[in-house]
Amino acid sequence: MHITSYSSHRGNSFAQAMNIKISKIARRMLAVPLLLAISVTAMGQEPDLVAISDEPLLGPFKLWEIERITDDVYAFRYSFYRNIFIVTDDGVIATDPLSVEAGQILSEEISKITDQPVKYVAYTHSHWDHASGAQPFKDQGAQIVAHERCAENFIENPNPNVVTPDITYSDRYEIKLGGKALEMFYFGPSHDNCLVGMVIKPDNLLFLADVANPPTGWMMFYNPAVSEDRVWNMVRFFDGYQGVIDEYGIETVIGGHMTGSFDPETGRPTIIRGTMGSASVVAERRAFWNSIIEATKAEIAAGTPPAEVPDKLVTEGAFADQIVGYDPDKMRIFLQRITTYVQTGE
Ligand SMILES: [Zn+2]
Repeated sequence: MHITSYSSHRGNSFAQAMNIKISKIARRMLAVPLLLAISVTAMGQEPDLVAISDEPLLGPFKLWEIERITDDVYAFRYSFYRNIFIVTDDGVIATDPLSVEAGQILSEEISKITDQPVKYVAYTHSHWDHASGAQPFKDQGAQIVAHERCAENFIENPNPNVVTPDITYSDRYEIKLGGKALEMFYFGPSHDNCLVGMVIKPDNLLFLADVANPPTGWMMFYNPAVSEDRVWNMVRFFDGYQGVIDEYGIETVIGGHMTGSFDPETGRPTIIRGTMGSASVVAERRAFWNSIIEATKAEIAAGTPPAEVPDKLVTEGAFADQIVGYDPDKMRIFLQRITTYVQTGE
């Protein structure tokens, strides 16, 4: 699925509340509260679904689904979250189990697709809402793989639902199995201090959790404070992945979440599946961070008191027509965070 045409009506508010069963959904939402306020469509090409939940989630979406991406690469979406797994004749490579409930469902569903055991589970980063739930895989003998800083995070701040890694690495690491490979690259702190993107080989697909979700890199953050994001390294981080994309000739990114876009028919912001999109999302996301940092620096250089920068830029409508999910209140919080970075370096 690659959505290329957006409507030009980009001034719509995200305040068109949805008529959904909040209590049921809230239980499943985990950490994406923004999405309650926008409409929902399943845009783009129909996915090749190999399994789907009976339980509703939101709009056309069920609680979970498994989508076949290529012959042996699958995406598992649970609630608003996603992981990928690779089935080979020598075993399965899985990624973020997401939660205890999701990990259990994934384990059962993989066993319906293949007789092969899961041999590896690789974490994209250390956040509990992605790394929890690997116990069923550990029980069948899987080795857990994570960046060394994630392993430190799990020691400093343990969570009983997170299985700690057996294999750690500092720079890059490749899992090879049955003619396939999953290669992970570390380009410094970004969202959390240990997030890595994963290249699926030889398919040349890049799986990215949290930092970029197709189809657009100009997406407002769910949490505008982005307190977990290391602003000082975001541009360098995306430069690193641009290098990987260029080196391997990667055209497609798989996102770790459902995401937002503009509905091509109504122009309204809407939630979409977001499984796959153009690798240009990495350059767009870099541009998002760089543009907002530069605009903040320019205001301060022009003599605007730092405390007034967020209000000034919001009043001027800076970036309002470019950002999916633009909300002036969220933007003000985001710009406060960027102003702090410009002043302190962190
Ligand atoms: Zn995260």
